Amino acid sequence: MATDPTASLGSITGHDLAAVPDAVVALLGASRRVLAIGHESPDADAFGSALGVALAVEWLGGRATAMSSDPVPPMYDFMPHIERIRAEPDPDLDYDLIVVSDSGDLGRVGRVAREHAELFGRVPILVIDHHASNEGFGAVDWVDPSAAAACEMVALLLPRLGVPLDALDGTIAADLMAGVIGDTGMFQHPNATPRTMRVSADLLAAGASIADVARRIYRNKPNAQLRLFGRVLARLESDLDERLVWASLEPDDLVRSGASAEQSEGIIDLLAQSATAEVAILFRDLGDRTRISTRTRDGGVDAIVLTSTFGGGGHPRAAGATVMLPLAEARVAVLAEATRLIDALGPR
Ligand code: 5GP
Ligand code: MN
Repeated sequence: MATDPTASLGSITGHDLAAVPDAVVALLGASRRVLAIGHESPDADAFGSALGVALAVEWLGGRATAMSSDPVPPMYDFMPHIERIRAEPDPDLDYDLIVVSDSGDLGRVGRVAREHAELFGRVPILVIDHHASNEGFGAVDWVDPSAAAACEMVALLLPRLGVPLDALDGTIAADLMAGVIGDTGMFQHPNATPRTMRVSADLLAAGASIADVARRIYRNKPNAQLRLFGRVLARLESDLDERLVWASLEPDDLVRSGASAEQSEGIIDLLAQSATAEVAILFRDLGDRTRISTRTRDGGVDAIVLTSTFGGGGHPRAAGATVMLPLAEARVAVLAEATRLIDALGPR
């Protein structure tokens, strides 16, 4: 398909659109019954990219299911069409394509891929992802680590498919904007590129309000969640002349604050506000296992290197892992590895 810059609302360039592989356009354009899914513990980019793909397929006359292994956290209720997210494949649809977005490997899809292993083994998979750690696991893989969000990629894909970015009254654009704003931290992380801004300008022109989306994602928290943040932040610890900063969330914190486990989302980004931290780490107690979220300073420790030691991954500045140890032991092991990586940077 020829690239048509006039399909853009003004800012996305023909060069931007040409970055979408023809094989991706051909495969998705030819598919009529599509299952679209992002990663478990979903965020705005996981939901936005899956919804964007599903709505585009329907706009082109096909049928689609947008799915998630985990339920939709209430903070994402504002995303248009979020009620479309299903927990199970549609038994009435004989899928001809599965689109896995925002997931560095198939395991990140979570429960659905495990419970429907036969489906995921039989139906061709199209991967649309921006994690540098992604080695590809589909029939066609589109992995672009220069994209700030999977939603940035889907926003380039839509015009290539012939779906205008302002289709469905700008509601697709609003979902894609949510993913871009979430993954760039309101355009403040170093992953926000000129292309991210061009895509966002067109999403804005299509009717997606940056102000509304940013408020709903970042300034709309239940007070119990703020109490949880306060408890955890009050226990901030540091080492290596404060270049290593961490805090631990214990089950008691949830009970005492009245917050839910998913409301710990955002604490790591507050820890990362530290002026001294090369590496910020949040530990979350899962009983026999421990979740870690890490953030690292630009030009410093690679968060992918830190988390991959523990079977995780993500981006150079933001990554996570599930450590197969209880909290106290996981903390010792992860802090030792973080210390080694900070020491390797040399003196400040
Ligand atoms: P967060 O710390 O916000 O949960 O995650 C930061 C980034 O790391 C996200 O892009 C997320 O997709 C990725 N990530 C988090 N946990 C894991 C994990 O267990 N495995 C992999 N491969 N990536 C993860
Ligand atoms: Mn993402």
